Amino acid sequence: GPGDEHAEVVVLGSGPGGYTAAFRAADLGKKVILIEKNPTLGGVCLNVGCIPSKALLHVAKVITEAEEMGAHGVTFGKPEINLDDLRAFKDGVVGQLTGGLEGLSKGRKVKVVRGMGTFSGPNMIDVVDADGKKTSVSFDQCVIAAGSEPVNLPFIPEDERIIDSTGALELKDVPERMLILGGGIIGLEMACVYDALGSNITVVELMDQIIPGADKDIVKPLHTRIKSRYEDIKLKTKVTAVEATDAGLVVTFEDDKGETSTDTFDKILVAVGRKPNGKLINAEAAGVAVDDRGFIAVDNQQKTGVPHIFAIGDVVGQPMLAHKAVHEGKVAAEVAAGEKRFFDARLIPSVAYTDPEVAWCGVTETEAKAKGIAYEKGVFPWAASGKALSNGRSEGITKLLFDPEDDRIIGACIVGTNAGDLLAEACIAIEMGADAVDLGHTIHAHPTLSETVNFAAEMFEGTITDLM
Ligand code: FAD
Repeated sequence: GPGDEHAEVVVLGSGPGGYTAAFRAADLGKKVILIEKNPTLGGVCLNVGCIPSKALLHVAKVITEAEEMGAHGVTFGKPEINLDDLRAFKDGVVGQLTGGLEGLSKGRKVKVVRGMGTFSGPNMIDVVDADGKKTSVSFDQCVIAAGSEPVNLPFIPEDERIIDSTGALELKDVPERMLILGGGIIGLEMACVYDALGSNITVVELMDQIIPGADKDIVKPLHTRIKSRYEDIKLKTKVTAVEATDAGLVVTFEDDKGETSTDTFDKILVAVGRKPNGKLINAEAAGVAVDDRGFIAVDNQQKTGVPHIFAIGDVVGQPMLAHKAVHEGKVAAEVAAGEKRFFDARLIPSVAYTDPEVAWCGVTETEAKAKGIAYEKGVFPWAASGKALSNGRSEGITKLLFDPEDDRIIGACIVGTNAGDLLAEACIAIEMGADAVDLGHTIHAHPTLSETVNFAAEMFEGTITDLM
């Protein structure tokens, strides 16, 4: 009918997966429509995820670094925090990137259709905008990139003092006492921000360590540092009830021995995971299978069970990370354009942008032990790195895992300042099949933190001569 649209490739959702797929398909000559329900493009990552959190984490780092300069003979005054200006800085960064995507879409003639999209058939999506206006978009091929949203716990009441990551990034105020429910990456990154801004932080985590996906020895330096800054870190503990009272949020904790206790907080950040949006798009109408949790299964070309419909990003499974979504977006677009492309990455790196950062890729030691994968390791403690000592931050560790058969690197775990950037060298090394000699004999600039990768390889080889 009038106002209806057709595209060769329709992309549902404009997060890092979706815009990447849309742009790549357009670059390969396809007529593309990108459907997005939010007013701005960029999805969770740009609007309420990776980018705003990193803008705030940078500021947090500067605050805590300035605080700690006292130990090096330089004292700054107590920071004066203007929340409105800080929020404006963060919003400015987000706005620059989301605005940039509008320009990039126009430049490629990718048409953006705004509104909530749901399938009405195997070649049709109905889009309803904020005013209730409906546009039917027909397509030859489709890429589902609907992303994910925060999980809520059923027993937690509705209260404006109980927030998710999106609420935390809004930076409404700096609460006096804040509970971080969930000791994973997102919870700890936000804890880092609010700690620097002046909140007293308590973290509660069900498992026996924070950041449960990373090796315990690598998480330890982070644990030690935040333990000294925060009020409390409760491990092997669950929250069983939350009551919203005028005096505050009364939380009941239960530890692994069944002991319960209560405490009162001014704010709670619920960061217990994210759930995929697969159930919100009426995928059945297109014949696309969605599992109980809302995930859509795909093959190694990102194809769903319906060959002309692809799915990418958070909606297809873990790890829910932007760079995975981007990579999958390129694969889907290239396959849609007729290229022979597969998802065959050897690794997907993970980084917690906490202070210190925790980063890992490939096989972790915990995983190797659990799966019986043979490995040997080279571990370099940053206490012997001249650069780390000069930075006043020598708590880091660089650990590399090698295949004992051929000495090829199979995994890397790094904790320390800038660990996320340092990890890139290990990612390239693993993808290229590098071995310990390649890493150990490559001359690294001195003094840099990157030397710790070099030194860890030499520790494994037993060829290290002098440290620092
Ligand atoms: P999303 O980014 O979730 O985008 C999906 C888009 O689809 C949304 O814009 C949504 O509005 C739209 N949409 C969904 N359904 C419909 C529909 N039916 N109709 C129309 N539009 C629809 N990852 C990292 O790699 N690094 C980080 O540092 C990092 N930090 C994070 C910090 C926080 C606080 C959070 C919450 C997440 C973070 N992530 C990070 C995860 C990252 O944001 C996600 O992995 C990534 O955004 C997933 O991309 P995606 O394209 O799959 O979907």
